[in-house]
Amino acid sequence: MNVGLIWAQNPDGVIGADNGIPWRLPEDMAHFKATTLGHPVIMGRRTWDSLPARFRPLSGRRNIVVTRNPDWTAEGAERAGSLAAALELAAEARPEPGTAESGRERPSAWVIGGGEIYRAALPYATTLSVTEVDAPVTGDTFAPPLDPAWRITEDTGWRSSTTELRYRIRRYTRP
Ligand code: NAP
Repeated sequence: MNVGLIWAQNPDGVIGADNGIPWRLPEDMAHFKATTLGHPVIMGRRTWDSLPARFRPLSGRRNIVVTRNPDWTAEGAERAGSLAAALELAAEARPEPGTAESGRERPSAWVIGGGEIYRAALPYATTLSVTEVDAPVTGDTFAPPLDPAWRITEDTGWRSSTTELRYRIRRYTRP
């Protein structure tokens, strides 16, 4: 199965602070939705907790949440006890909520965070979508380091958000 990771970071690699994202970028939220819609999404339990209740579960996607807690349940989410179990669940041919059939485009599952899960999932990934946000913030959660095998295959170049932050969206792939 093809696995993609999608995140937004600042130039220092910050992806989170206090179990939230320390900037607001509507264009990236739209990009995130367009990219992941129709695919299973895999996230750590802390990222699930960080989603505002009105956005949970993320619509039009199977929401697979990784937790060591065997008793964890949440409406609209599928629990997985490990990343490997999450990937197995994602690979099962099941329709995404609100769609007639499973997404056939590559990649077939997106890992959507956070820091702990990105680090664990990077070895499985063939595609990354990384939004770089020029936000001068400090944080406590960081993007995983990338080795040189990762190549930039798409780059929007710097754009201006309606929030006046600069951002660019890059796609990385590796053989
Ligand atoms: P996380 O990766 O979202 O979740 C960590 C949790 O996942 C662990 O506490 C554990 O849950 C579970 N887990 C991790 N490894 C596991 C394993 N091997 N087996 C079973 N369960 C496992 O947490 P995080 O690193 O703290 O990241 C959250 C931060 O990232 C937040 O600030 C969030 O806003 C941010 N974030 C940013 C972006 C972005 O694109 N900028 C995207 C997503 C998230 P239990 O404790 O329940 O066992």
